[in-house]
Amino acid sequence: MFSMTDIILKKKKGEKLTEYQIRKTVKDYVAGDIPDYQMAALFMAIYFQGMDDEEISILTDAMMKSGDILDLSDIKGCKVDKHSSGGVGDKLSLTACPAAAAAGVKIAKMSGRGLGFTGGTIDKLESIPGFKTDISIDEFKNNVRETGLSIVSQSEEIAKADKMIYALRDVTATVDVPALIVSSIMSKKLAMGSDAVLLDVKYGDGALMKTKKTAENLAETMVMIGEQNGKKTEAIISNMDQPLGRAIGNSIEVIEAIETLKGKGPDDTTESTVEMAGRMIFLAGIAETVREGEEIAKEMIVSGKALKKFREFIGKQGGDLRAIDDTSLLPLSPVKAIVKGKDIGIMRKSQIISLSAMDIGIASKFCGAGRDKKGQSIDPGAGILLKKKIGDIVEPEDVLAVIYASDKDKADAAIKKLTNCWDYIKI
Ligand code: URA
Repeated sequence: MFSMTDIILKKKKGEKLTEYQIRKTVKDYVAGDIPDYQMAALFMAIYFQGMDDEEISILTDAMMKSGDILDLSDIKGCKVDKHSSGGVGDKLSLTACPAAAAAGVKIAKMSGRGLGFTGGTIDKLESIPGFKTDISIDEFKNNVRETGLSIVSQSEEIAKADKMIYALRDVTATVDVPALIVSSIMSKKLAMGSDAVLLDVKYGDGALMKTKKTAENLAETMVMIGEQNGKKTEAIISNMDQPLGRAIGNSIEVIEAIETLKGKGPDDTTESTVEMAGRMIFLAGIAETVREGEEIAKEMIVSGKALKKFREFIGKQGGDLRAIDDTSLLPLSPVKAIVKGKDIGIMRKSQIISLSAMDIGIASKFCGAGRDKKGQSIDPGAGILLKKKIGDIVEPEDVLAVIYASDKDKADAAIKKLTNCWDYIKI
């Protein structure tokens, strides 16, 4: 007899759950036969006791099979998916995907919205006037076939269990449970039907994983599950102690992504774009080594082919191409405020030694660029432009950041948060 109380008790004692118990739990929860309070208790037991690789594989498989599984086999070429475990200022889907697609990689990607202090690709793309993220599966596949790249918002039908489980984790302090993160990410990636998956697992102040070791452990388990399911799977471990690039928000990140595709982006964003696109090109078998893949990715940017691919992709999903050619047509919120060196106590020449990605993400949310709860609307033109990052020299009158918000209250809340973000030493 299946008893949810017994399952919770078993995991609470640190025992291994059977395949039947895991599959039945997922199936019954999706069917509405297990109440949230029991599921939440199980998640908390998993937080303290963990799951072994076999349990995580079964959980991932059960979650993947709880919804539709895409068949991309009628699209020629190697389909490569990418996933980032989330960060602040992470606009790499907007830069690396077009660069890889320009080299011939086929990318059929489902992306999420921002939540809490992290941003989401879908919110960023929707800041481009006219861009549609909720197209049909047929249109999605057709775009991948014709353009080599399509990015859509999460479908209710893919990995159904993950939608319900994630919403519950979000309100029961169980988001940071490695077994649940792995099954959430990999169930969606496997259901999307690509041949290969590149994972960008971030660690640091602005990431879910706070240490490099925990990010490596997470990556190792995800790669194992991907490989078990016949997908070429690789992971990049990257630091998120300070935001990626200088722009944090939605349209402001699209502008920085376009600059990067034009070869004029910040160094860190350009380097990460080349690294990620290079790996995708390698995974697709277009390059024999990662190094060669990176050379091809660089060439895609320098030749303008990556930007051309971005235009094609945006146009195909209804986006206004004039906003790509002239980024001043993208929304930017009207209240502009600045934070200067002296505002954070810099009274003489100093050097920035740290910059909290998490606090900047929160400040960006205060501007209106992010949300606390799923479904909340956001201001596409709100955000922060960082003028000084780690290693930069600052004088009292130097501008550290420019804030864009829809009203003064929001800008003031962001300024208050931002004044604690930088640490510096006098030089
Ligand atoms: N991203 C996901 O899709 N799921 C998680 O659990 C964490 C990050």
